[in-house]
Amino acid sequence: MPIRPEDRARYPDDWPEVSARIRRRSGGRCECRGECRRGHHGHRCRAWHGHPHPDTGSTVVLTVAHLDHTPENCDPANLCAMCQACHLSYDARHHATTRGRTRHAEATRGMDPLFGEDNAP
Ligand SMILES: [Zn+2]
Ligand SMILES: [Zn+2]
Repeated sequence: MPIRPEDRARYPDDWPEVSARIRRRSGGRCECRGECRRGHHGHRCRAWHGHPHPDTGSTVVLTVAHLDHTPENCDPANLCAMCQACHLSYDARHHATTRGRTRHAEATRGMDPLFGEDNAP
């Protein structure tokens, strides 16, 4: 899933390398073991990078999910290479429960002045 613009600054500078490392760890296979609640609980997802997805038939592109939804937490234990179906499902559950908080954050963002009065010319 693409990184949301408002989250981009929260990712570490070496995120591309971190992400590549996790996808290498996965061996090209979705690492989800049911965290997505799509119904394969306890069984590793059968989606392989670059191959048709067993459920959706579309070509699998593994992306790296943060299990705690915190981009700053790049501990390998918090990261999981996931196919689109698992990642979307996993994040959708999260977004449903945090939508209120996110809306509030969006509503208040931009209200902070970029420069304090000390910086006035
Ligand atoms: Zn999957
Ligand atoms: Zn899954």
